[in-house]
Amino acid sequence: MTKHGFTLFLFLSSVASTTCRDEQDFCESKSCNERDFEQNHFYTNVKTYGEIPLTLSHKLSDALPLDEVDGPVIRTVKGCVFSECQPTPLKEPLTLAAVSQDVLRNILDLNESVIQNEEFVLCVSGGKRFPGSIPLAHRYGGHQFGNWAGQLGDGRAHLLGEYTNRKGERWELQLKGSGKTPYSRSGDGRAVIRSSVREFLCSEAMHFLGVPTSRALSLVVSEEPVWRDQFYNANVIKERGAVVLRLARSWFRIGSLEILTRTGELDVLQTLLDFIIKEYFKSIAMNDPDKYVVFFSRVVNETAHLIALWMSVGFAHGVCNTDNFSLLSVTIDYGPFGFMESYDPNFVPNTSDDEGRYSIGAQANVGLFNLQKLLVALKPLLTSDQLTQCRQTLREYSQTYHQRFHELFKAKLGFLGNQEKDSYVIAFLLKLMEDTGADFTMTFRQLSEVTLSQLQTGSFPPSMWALSDLLSHEYFRDWVQLYLKRLSRMKSDSDAARQHRMQGVNPRYVLRNWMAESAIRKAEKNDFSEVALLQKTLTEPFVEQEEAERAGYSSKPPSWAQQLRVSCSS
Ligand code: AMP
Ligand code: MG
Repeated sequence: MTKHGFTLFLFLSSVASTTCRDEQDFCESKSCNERDFEQNHFYTNVKTYGEIPLTLSHKLSDALPLDEVDGPVIRTVKGCVFSECQPTPLKEPLTLAAVSQDVLRNILDLNESVIQNEEFVLCVSGGKRFPGSIPLAHRYGGHQFGNWAGQLGDGRAHLLGEYTNRKGERWELQLKGSGKTPYSRSGDGRAVIRSSVREFLCSEAMHFLGVPTSRALSLVVSEEPVWRDQFYNANVIKERGAVVLRLARSWFRIGSLEILTRTGELDVLQTLLDFIIKEYFKSIAMNDPDKYVVFFSRVVNETAHLIALWMSVGFAHGVCNTDNFSLLSVTIDYGPFGFMESYDPNFVPNTSDDEGRYSIGAQANVGLFNLQKLLVALKPLLTSDQLTQCRQTLREYSQTYHQRFHELFKAKLGFLGNQEKDSYVIAFLLKLMEDTGADFTMTFRQLSEVTLSQLQTGSFPPSMWALSDLLSHEYFRDWVQLYLKRLSRMKSDSDAARQHRMQGVNPRYVLRNWMAESAIRKAEKNDFSEVALLQKTLTEPFVEQEEAERAGYSSKPPSWAQQLRVSCSS
């Protein structure tokens, strides 16, 4: 306890309960309301035709066991890592609603004009194959909400192939929402516009925030009806199908290995694990007898780093199941995620998670739970000595996480070097934010914009709304004194240098729910202007932008934002 009566709380609380939740949104009702659709296409001048100059390779299907049964027959699959499976084209007319120019140019080496090629929209929505593509659906399992859920797999995603770009980076291209596969269970293989807009915008936004993540090339919307009961209250409505083309260095997840151990397919397990190490962990020598131990310790470290990064931008993933945790420790599978607004360690973005298992403050511990499950999956390939070493690595996870968290929050406060009380200053501020419900993103941003003399006098302009909320706390002045004292110890630092440093790590814009919702409401009427504005804004989240300011993206969230709910339905 401190003199202010709180313990140092660094977002590491105990693992919550283990209730299983059905993540899917599978419905069959036929009632609907027709909508009027305005035409507002992303590209208006279709000028070119012909093959898209993007040739994919298929190392994955060459190297790893494939399902012997052909076609999207839904069933329990055995003895393989992938099933060959063709996407089901979305019904035309199609609209190319958004494209990431950064992915297009800097990952796929494509010229902007490619989007004017008629074939492009087909290739990125499953209507046509990229040259060289052999579409696959991946077989994986997973622990969902704490319980083993059995076979899951790509129920609505198709891995198109791999592309090695001119920088030598290898990227795996995947469609999401592209139709049924053997892993669709009772699902329709589709994704709706709202969840696709969210995934497209957020994965790109996370990249520009500096958080390892899958990327998104494109968002295509269709008029194909897709039926969803968004809040699981028997109110099934007709929505529309959309496809996102997303990319990652690898789409393998903890659940990719778990399923093979669970079913006792240890030869496939070893083949897959060796492939993963060889392809994605190149610094690990394949002849190292401890290669699995080294692999495990890398995943443990990188997962701790990733979750600390999530916390540093107030990101709650929403569904931290083992099937949604990448072995390369990048953020994947954007569903009911949320950026925390009022600071609250119990913030739960997903309304379907009513026990708060995946609250923002539980994420670090959930990461540990997931890594324990990864170790269970690796166990058959480890000697008892190696297992002991891996267990030791797991014991160090908490420290790794705390260290990274500490470094990130020190940077958010503009601290250079280490001082004994740094943890205290961080935790003290978080406690004040918790008590006052101050906005997470803007508190840090406004601390980066305020001058030290403004801080000293407590006279903030009205635009500093988050700091004004904090000001009401009886201990705010005490915290300011500690903070100023800490800053004054950095002798060669100037206020301008501090502000500059802090503004480079504290975003002014994150994808708040209300912003996504406002863009989605328009997108559902075929107006993609706000998707475009958000995409542009979030490409430079640390830079103040006129249009974004006019749209209120750094203002206090509107009151209607409080009613918004996001569920697993997608
Ligand atoms: P997610 O919530 O997207 O991580 O999905 C969890 C599991 O459910 C994965 O195996 C998905 O492929 C599957 N799934 C989710 N929605 C659908 C759908 N509409 N059709 C088929 N499979 C789905
Ligand atoms: Mg998933």
